[in-house]
Amino acid sequence: MSVSTLGVHGSVGEVFPTAVFRDALADAGPSVRVVSDGDDLTPCDALVTFAYEERFLDAGLDWIHSIQAGVDRFPFDELSDREIALTNSTGIHGDVVGETAVGMMLAFARRLHVHRSNQERGEWRKPAWDDAFPLRRESACVVGLGTLGRGIATRASALGMDVTGVKRTPTPVDGVDRVHPPADLHEAVADAGFVALAVPLNDDTEGMISAAELAAMREDAYLINVARGPVVDQAALVDALESGAIAGAGLDVFEAEPLPADSPLWDREEVIVTPHAAGINDEYYERVATIVRENLRRLSAGESLTNRVV
Ligand code: NAD
Repeated sequence: MSVSTLGVHGSVGEVFPTAVFRDALADAGPSVRVVSDGDDLTPCDALVTFAYEERFLDAGLDWIHSIQAGVDRFPFDELSDREIALTNSTGIHGDVVGETAVGMMLAFARRLHVHRSNQERGEWRKPAWDDAFPLRRESACVVGLGTLGRGIATRASALGMDVTGVKRTPTPVDGVDRVHPPADLHEAVADAGFVALAVPLNDDTEGMISAAELAAMREDAYLINVARGPVVDQAALVDALESGAIAGAGLDVFEAEPLPADSPLWDREEVIVTPHAAGINDEYYERVATIVRENLRRLSAGESLTNRVV
């Protein structure tokens, strides 16, 4: 495979400016062109994209790079049948998503979300004496210990929390005090003050957190989801919040995005909603460009692609 023209799909603009990204790759070798809706893709050998469109399959592309780590929207079998390589952007979000997840934990523990809501109404109101608690006393169970999970675990550990994890191969991980296999998920979540989800969405993880898992959690526990919405059964989560089976949730991802205006999740004080923004930061474009540049180098050297999914 050789890349003489690299396309930057217009959807990338939902995360960072396409022109800034194009300029970051100006010295990478191939000519780089932004392709917007309706533009012909056939001059491109490879495409960097946020969205997936069916026309990618028949445009003569050899390689597609997803600017997201999660590639659940791409049809793996069709890509494989057409010998189109798919690479993703895992490895670049551990710090910022870790900060978002632990930031949500800090908000719940220190009641920052409530103070901010009060501020919007101009209300000076102290929390009840036993509403706020120190994070140091709490435990976090991180489900999935890849890039995101490790980013969450090391930051939670640095704040003095007891950190456990759920991992398919139960080998030790820095900052994680105990590791459980997925078969022990109920046991793993049962003791945690925070359960943070950091797994990819696939057949094994869809609905991984449903009514039974939420029932297994402590009534004063919080669920943090920075992975993908369908990893959680959202109706069961709403029920668990309404019945008091868990205390609250910090949610960056949802079954339907944008979160519909009539979702009951918008109105609950103990729910923090962020718009799938945990990975967004002003270095995002450069971090993706680094992966793309490395893969262009590998292709020139006849080496295999990094971050290859298909
Ligand atoms: P990664 O591949 O580095 O890590 C995923 C980890 O989950 C791997 O270690 C894998 O072994 C583990 N895993 C898979 N199935 C499991 C299971 N059933 N039980 C326990 N562990 C399991 O990926 P990552 O970069 O950490 O990203 C993880 C996911 O988070 C992505 O696939 C994406 O969907 C999502 N994500 C969301 C954002 C955001 O902005 N909210 C940003 C980046 C990634």
